[in-house]
Amino acid sequence: MKATMMNAPLTLGHILERAGTLFAATEIVSRMPDRSLHRCTYGDFYRRARQLAEALSAAGLKRGERVGTLMWSHYAHLEAYFGIPVAGGVLHTLNLRLSPEEIAYIVNHAEDRFLIVDDVLLPLLEKFRGQIDVERIFVVPLTGQAVPAGYESYEELLSTASGHFTPPEMEENEPCGMCYTSGTTGRPKGVVYSHRSSVLHSLVTALPDLMNLSCSKTVLPVVPMFHANAWGIPYAATNVGARQVFPGPHLDAESLLDLFAGEQVTQTAGVPTIWLSILETLQRNPGRWQLIPGMEMIVGGSAPPESMIRAFAELGLEVIHAWGMTETSPVASFSRLKPHLEKESAEERFAYRAKQGMPVPLVDLRIAGEKGPVAWDGRSVGEIQVRGPWITAGYHTQPATEERFTADGWLRTGDVGHCDPEGYVQLTDRTKDLIKSGGEWISSVALENAIMGHPAVREAAVIAVPHPKWGERPLAVVALKDGTAVDGEAICSHLAESFPRWQLPDGCVFVESIPRTSTGKFFKARLREQYADWGSV
Ligand code: ADP
Repeated sequence: MKATMMNAPLTLGHILERAGTLFAATEIVSRMPDRSLHRCTYGDFYRRARQLAEALSAAGLKRGERVGTLMWSHYAHLEAYFGIPVAGGVLHTLNLRLSPEEIAYIVNHAEDRFLIVDDVLLPLLEKFRGQIDVERIFVVPLTGQAVPAGYESYEELLSTASGHFTPPEMEENEPCGMCYTSGTTGRPKGVVYSHRSSVLHSLVTALPDLMNLSCSKTVLPVVPMFHANAWGIPYAATNVGARQVFPGPHLDAESLLDLFAGEQVTQTAGVPTIWLSILETLQRNPGRWQLIPGMEMIVGGSAPPESMIRAFAELGLEVIHAWGMTETSPVASFSRLKPHLEKESAEERFAYRAKQGMPVPLVDLRIAGEKGPVAWDGRSVGEIQVRGPWITAGYHTQPATEERFTADGWLRTGDVGHCDPEGYVQLTDRTKDLIKSGGEWISSVALENAIMGHPAVREAAVIAVPHPKWGERPLAVVALKDGTAVDGEAICSHLAESFPRWQLPDGCVFVESIPRTSTGKFFKARLREQYADWGSV
């Protein structure tokens, strides 16, 4: 017997068509560099994304060719998210927080044919323009100023479109986008998404148990559109017709809070460092912002301290924890509570919410111990491995090595953790951040979370430093809140309440702030370099 269903390809073109037809009046709001708010509708976005697709096709863009974007999060980037793939091209978002050399390497490695660049980012582009070989560069005039000589205007490019354009019929497995891993381990590697993987990821991430998106929601991705496709939110939100708000280059806590309140945001998403500064700002200014009660704040990218989840709950805001990586499109697990867990004590509930969560629909997850998969007993630790329709099976032009992929086809995430009988995964570390002391592992994440639970602490990272006897020992790098003063001893006695003595850090160094990676995470590799000689001085 054969199934009688049509074999309709899953393509981003479908999402764009439906959004333009059904949600033409829905608003898209973008914060501009001068802080003003740019407002347009899905109708405008639909027309302009198709103009971009037409103009790029007329410029000779061929199927599978890359168009790089060096842009903040705003309406024009959303146009690129759809216009490039609808033309048959591949959207290649460039992380503007990388060094100019790294960006040039990535542009060259991806062989980007065209670039679309925000005018405010031209000074950055100038730093590596001599190192790249792209055919044409289109500049988005966000400031309204004339596009400088030597560049072409994005607006003029759009104006060349006739509006009578039939997009190419795409196969669902054709590439539509690519992102590079941020290169915390060696050279950045390219992950290439397909129309099919992006559509399926959009459908699943919008579900109520995940990002809970719908046409009655207003979503603001704080995570930039150049970081893992803003976790797929622009696609998932467009698919359901959600109102979209983009913060542009203004990612400080006050600007974001102004937008949350002013635009009545219901869902938002970002890395923990963003939420930590938002929490501090809210606590310093009680009553200043009228946020939607229960606004859902999705947090991922690194582990949020449980104390932060609790503190937001006290303010009536819900932090929802998720985990993933560039290689997983990126959503792989989400931590919403099953109904019977909602009946547990507050202690239990917060413990679950601080976990990375259950594997999402269509993603398989296993914890690989030294002798194969281990039980989901909440204790047995191993490497987290995943597979599924939006998990990469390799890297652009690089062989799928044993270091990253198992012989039976699973992605080795490099994250280490355990899973409880309910199916909630908890990360204890990344392979490269683990601390091995006297042959025993110490979880840097657990120590960090506990230190960040101390009322005087703003942020903390725990790293391994070499030790002649124990191999490695933990060192805590701590930034205190303004106007507070505690010493290393106080931090250690706070930790001694929940950790055995041998796991306590050998020392605490106090810093103004913890350095960040290009994706806003604590830059532990840099701290390790910086404090490599700590014990011997
Ligand atoms: P990079 O590997 O360069 O940091 P990604 O942005 O793809 O680039 O980050 C993926 C990694 O981030 C994961 O492998 C994991 O170590 C970490 N991560 C993501 N989400 C979480 C989370 N909720 N808790 C802890 N770590 C996380």
